[in-house]
Amino acid sequence: MNIDLQDKVQQLFTPVPRDDSLLRQHCLIDGIWATAGSTLHYDVVNPSTDQVIATIASGDERHARNAVQAAQAALPSWKALTADERSRILYRWYELVVGKRDDLALILTLEQGKPLAEAASEIDYAASYIQWFAEEGRRASGGILPSPWPDKRLLVTREPIGVCAAITPWNFPAAMVTRKVAPALAAGCTIVLKPASQTPLTALALAELAMRAGVPPGVLNVVVGSAAAIGNELTSNPLVRKLTFTGSTEVGRRLAASCAPTVKRLSLELGGNAPFIVLDDADIDAAVQGAIAAKFRNAGQTCVCANRFLVQSSVHDVFLNKLSVAAQALQVSDGQARNAQIGPLIDRAAVERLDSLIDEAMHAGADLVLGGGRHERGGNFFQPTIIAAVTSEMTLAKQEIFGPVAAIQRFDTDEQAIQIANATEYGLAAYLYTSDLKRSWRTSDALEYGMVGINTGVISTAAAPFGGIKQSGYGREGSTQGLDDYLETKYRCVGGL
Ligand code: NAP
Repeated sequence: MNIDLQDKVQQLFTPVPRDDSLLRQHCLIDGIWATAGSTLHYDVVNPSTDQVIATIASGDERHARNAVQAAQAALPSWKALTADERSRILYRWYELVVGKRDDLALILTLEQGKPLAEAASEIDYAASYIQWFAEEGRRASGGILPSPWPDKRLLVTREPIGVCAAITPWNFPAAMVTRKVAPALAAGCTIVLKPASQTPLTALALAELAMRAGVPPGVLNVVVGSAAAIGNELTSNPLVRKLTFTGSTEVGRRLAASCAPTVKRLSLELGGNAPFIVLDDADIDAAVQGAIAAKFRNAGQTCVCANRFLVQSSVHDVFLNKLSVAAQALQVSDGQARNAQIGPLIDRAAVERLDSLIDEAMHAGADLVLGGGRHERGGNFFQPTIIAAVTSEMTLAKQEIFGPVAAIQRFDTDEQAIQIANATEYGLAAYLYTSDLKRSWRTSDALEYGMVGINTGVISTAAAPFGGIKQSGYGREGSTQGLDDYLETKYRCVGGL
C-alpha cells in the first residue's frame, strides 16, 4: 500500500481491522497493487456517519485495458491447470475468507452500512460460493453421444470461455463478487472485476485474500473507479469474451448494447419488483416473519426484497396489524451497534428518492400506517415504513423501492393476485404464503418469476440457481448452472473408426 494512503486509512478507518493489510486502495493488475500512476482519487464514505473512511486511487480505461491484457496473458497457464489444482487454490481462498470473517464484516459494514451481524452473514454467504465452485469446478464434465454413424464417435467437452469481466453493485459488496469470480476461476477463466465505487474496499480485501491463497498474477484483476471509462473498455475490448453484470436494469440494458458489436456472452442479474402474496389460508404469523426478512433485510436494499405485498382481503387487516407491530420493533442504528437491525441507506440520494416515492403515494390516496420518513438519527437513516391502500398505478408499486418501505395492496381472488403480480417488466423473485398445497402449485406455476419462495422469505443459497426472467436479466448464479455461464461447449466428431 502507498505509505501516505496507509497512514490516511489508519487515521480515518476506526476501528481498524485486525489485519490492516486487507485495506487495499489501489487497482490490482497482474498481481501488483497499482500504486504508481494514479492521478485521480476519490473518497469512500461510511453511510452511517458520512465520514470518509478511505481514499481510493482511481483506475481508468488504461488500467482496465492493462487488466484485460494481464488476464489474457494469464489465461493459458490458468486453464491448463487441472480442475483439481484450481479447486485447491479456491479452497484456500475460501478458508482465508472464513478466517478473516470479522475483519471483512467490519470493512463491509463501514463502507455499506448494513449491521455487523448481517455483514458477517454476507461474508459466510460469499464464502459459500467459493466453496461451492471449488467443488463444482471438478464436475465440468462433457459426454459421449450415441452416434448415428457406425464409423464415428461424438464427443462433447467443456472449455473455459476465456477472459471475463464482472461489474458488481454496492448492496452486496462481498457476495456479488464471489458469485462471479469463483465460478469463473473454477471454470478456468481469468477475470477483471469492477466493483461498485461506493463499496470497493470489501472487493479489494477479497482480492488480497485471493492473492494470499495462491491465485496467480493476472488471473484475478480488480479495477476501481469511473464506471463509464472502465465499463467502456470492458464492454468493447475484443479480448473480453464474457461480461457478467449485477446491477440495475437500466445500466444492464446499456451494457448489453455495448457488448453487442463484439458479441460477448452475457449474464445479467438486474432489478426486481418482487410480489409477496399472502393468501387467505396462510399462517399469518409465519407470513409476517417472512415479510420482515424479505422486506427489511439490508434496509430493504436487495434485488429480491419484497416490493409489493399483495394480501387477500379477508386476512388483510390482521396481516397489516401484525406486520406493523413487528416492523415497529426493528432497531434502526449504526451498523456497528450491537442491537442494530436496520442500518442507513447507502446515500442521501436514496433517502430523497424514498421521500418522493412516499409523497407521491400519499397524494394518490395511500394510507400511512407506520414511519413515513427520515429517522430521528438523521443522515441516511430511514424509518421502517408501512403504507397501505397502495395501487398498481403508484410509482411505489412499479419501481424497485430499495428501502425499508412496505407497500401493501389488497386483492380478492387468486387470479387477481397473479394478474397484479405479473403486471411488471421484472421477473426476479416472488413470494407466496398459503397452507394449501394445490394453491401453492397453481399460483407458483402462474408466477412469471425466476425464483419463488413458498412459505419462506429467504431463498438465496449457493446451492440454488439465482436469477431472473423478463427484464430482470438472464443467466443463473450458484447451483450446478452457475458454472455453465463460464463454459463453452466443444463438440468433436471423430471419424474413420
Ligand atoms: P447500478 O447503478 O446499475 O450499478 C451497478 C454497477 O454498475 C456498479 O459497479 C456501477 O459502477 C456500474 N455501472 C454504472 N454505470 C455503468 C456504466 N455506464 N458502465 C459500466 N458500469 C456501470 O446499480 P446499483 O445501484 O449499484 O445496485 C442496485 C441495483 O442492483 C438494483 O437495481 C438491484 O436490484 C440490482 N441487483 C440485482 C441483483 C440480482 O442478482 N439480480 C443483485 C443485487 C443487486 P459505479 O458504482 O462506479 O457507478
